Amino acid sequence: MMTQETIAAIATAVGEGGIAVIRVSGPDAVAESAKLFKSASNIVEAPSHTVHYGHIVDPANGEKIEEILLTIMRGPRSFTAEDVVELSTHGGVVAVKRVLELLLRQGTVRIAEPGEFTKRAFLNGRIDLAQAEAVIDLIRSKSDRAFSVAMKQAEGTLSRRVKALRHNLVELLAHIEVNIDYPEHDVAEMTNNYIRERSQEACDEIDRLLKTASEGKILREGIMTAIVGRPNVGKSSLLNALVQENKAIVTDIPGTTRDVIEEYVTLGGIPLRLLDTAGIRETTDVVERIGVERSRTALEEADLILFVVNASESLHEDDYKLMEELQGRPVIVLLNKTDLPVAVDEGEMASRFASGSIVRLSVLREQGLDQLEKVIRGMFFGGEIDSGDLTYVSNVRHIALLHQAKQSLVDAMEATDAGIPIDLVQIDVRTAWEQLGEMIGDSVSESLIDQIFSQFCLGK
Ligand code: GDP
Ligand code: ZN
Repeated sequence: MMTQETIAAIATAVGEGGIAVIRVSGPDAVAESAKLFKSASNIVEAPSHTVHYGHIVDPANGEKIEEILLTIMRGPRSFTAEDVVELSTHGGVVAVKRVLELLLRQGTVRIAEPGEFTKRAFLNGRIDLAQAEAVIDLIRSKSDRAFSVAMKQAEGTLSRRVKALRHNLVELLAHIEVNIDYPEHDVAEMTNNYIRERSQEACDEIDRLLKTASEGKILREGIMTAIVGRPNVGKSSLLNALVQENKAIVTDIPGTTRDVIEEYVTLGGIPLRLLDTAGIRETTDVVERIGVERSRTALEEADLILFVVNASESLHEDDYKLMEELQGRPVIVLLNKTDLPVAVDEGEMASRFASGSIVRLSVLREQGLDQLEKVIRGMFFGGEIDSGDLTYVSNVRHIALLHQAKQSLVDAMEATDAGIPIDLVQIDVRTAWEQLGEMIGDSVSESLIDQIFSQFCLGK
């Protein structure tokens, strides 16, 4: 473990809450906290993993600042593997800031940089890089589902599989090494088969990990969902109903949703990135046309399309045009305004979207939204989500490294087939091993580490 300055930061989210926690980490964590802490306990002598009741007192004037609980976790059995003290104060920004300021005023404790606690945990060997990145995902996760996936990664599921892969490659490297030292002819042929088999096995495992990547991406960013339909059919109203706050402008004048409005919602545990598009239709108005252009882009990129129709009117020419365009896409047809007499021919819609679902809605009366949620869940997960034994690769850097490692192994197999000398084949295998190592923080450069940890927010 390296010698470090002692750092401190507010570890809980800023804002009102029952309690707030200040985390202090480093060699002086206990001693510096003790200077401000008036209690029946002597925390300097106290054993690790104990909690103490007392008051924070300003040493300058003896003023009682806060009533707190103080927790001691001595290294290496702490998050950072250093001595850690956590001060639980009353919630609220003012109280917690005063305590933090007092701590910093002593001069030996400094404020932590974003991600510095996690960075120390990594540098002190407490967690590996994949786990550290999972902590970033935890902080940022936009839904419970993404949260539990990030949680799993934090527990090291992905790390374990990558380590197992690397272990197999080390065995392969050792085998090749022996062959270089004792290059008898019959051994060489066996070795070539061995290289092919083991490389193929590793490629297969990488493919399995990569297969989860697209789902991982969905969970991170949300399923890109475009709400499309003619002006005035209720797109913005639907978005608002789903978001349950009035961010998009709802109006009676056709063509007023002139841009693409984006909202994140979680529907039955599934994160959706909802795009309310400007009414797609032919138009000569310049401003409106820009909106229409963006709507088209959103439509092209969408993973899911919610096609809203005004069920109280018979279908319009523009409806038919849109239906034409939506053929073969993942579409849910929403017959809205079913609180009014229905004029749309449902049978006709059903025959046009044979593969898609049709849901009757009245956004006005908040009817049919449950059904919509059910259909979305069904489309993406085949019913209930099983979070049992999935490992998610959800990180762009990880995905890139997996692809690179796979390519190196393919190179190794091709070189073997081409009769290239075995010590050159060995280089490809070693490269794959190093690339996988980068995923979990072996053989990563200092600048890469800094780049990763700078993404953290304060107090983590
Ligand atoms: P957009 O142009 O497609 O975004 O449509 P809006 O969301 O702006 O809605 C247009 C009008 O239809 C507004 O006056 C809404 O109040 C109304 N509207 C939306 N949903 C319903 C519904 O389910 N039933 C009825 N009767 N009116 C609705
Ligand atoms: Zn609208």
